[in-house]
Amino acid sequence: MRILILGGTTEASALARLVADDPRFEATLSLAGRTATPAGQPIAMRSGGFGGAAGLARHLEDHGIAAVIDATHPYAARISANAVAACRQAKVPLASLPRAPWEARPGDRWVDVPSTEAAVQSLGTDRHHVFVTVGRQELHLFAAAPQHRYIARLIDPPQQARLPPDLVLVRQRGPFDLEAERRLLHDEAIEIMVSKNAGGGATYAKIEAARALGLPVIMVERPHKPTGTVVAGPEEAMAWLAHERSLRGV
Ligand code: NAP
Repeated sequence: MRILILGGTTEASALARLVADDPRFEATLSLAGRTATPAGQPIAMRSGGFGGAAGLARHLEDHGIAAVIDATHPYAARISANAVAACRQAKVPLASLPRAPWEARPGDRWVDVPSTEAAVQSLGTDRHHVFVTVGRQELHLFAAAPQHRYIARLIDPPQQARLPPDLVLVRQRGPFDLEAERRLLHDEAIEIMVSKNAGGGATYAKIEAARALGLPVIMVERPHKPTGTVVAGPEEAMAWLAHERSLRGV
């Protein structure tokens, strides 16, 4: 049974490992193509957009895909909306693997904002040292507040022409550990962190480090992300796939 995994996350990679060991399925992992050298995977990979919901529906039909699993990042809302529409159109079952958000704990100083633009505004007029971890696609927005010193962590260098003038790029790929995160925040004299509420364990250490150092975290709220049948994790996704396969009488 041919399946398509929409990925770009730790969960998608975990699912790829499980499905690679299961001869009942022939799986392809789809990435948006944002990362120049994505981590290797034990299943086939494809990269780049499909051309909206209609393009994805066409891809499903052309490749005889019998099930789709959306394991994309909590802030990747467009591809999830496209997956719901395309699967409906192509009559292909869709499961979604959402990641629970982090919950604030005692000692956390989170300021929730609706968007990265709002996060930039909330930094205020006084100059601060700001640690930015929202990804490279939105880094240019910080050029609207050029008075701050920014330390931005990214996997690949940003492509936008207009970036804040006082910017230090830290090229790192997670997972990160608490001690290294504390050291980074301390050494760069960070006063404020800007983060997405990504959830999961791979990038949580920065939140713990901010708590330990008493630093405020400007937390960009999650977008609405449409879903298919919700599955709790990669193992449950495998059970869902087996069920879909049995429904097809395979
Ligand atoms: P998005 O806004 O939801 O998607 C924008 C467009 O990128 C989609 O319409 C689609 O193009 C293409 N696309 C997205 N994910 C794709 C996938 N897995 N396979 C093929 N095409 C895909 O997504 P985004 O926020 O730009 O994120 C892009 C990718 O990076 C996602 O796969 C996500 O899992 C991963 N990621 C995102 C973040 C984040 O903070 N946003 C963080 C970590 C990883 P077409 O309409 O042409 O099909």
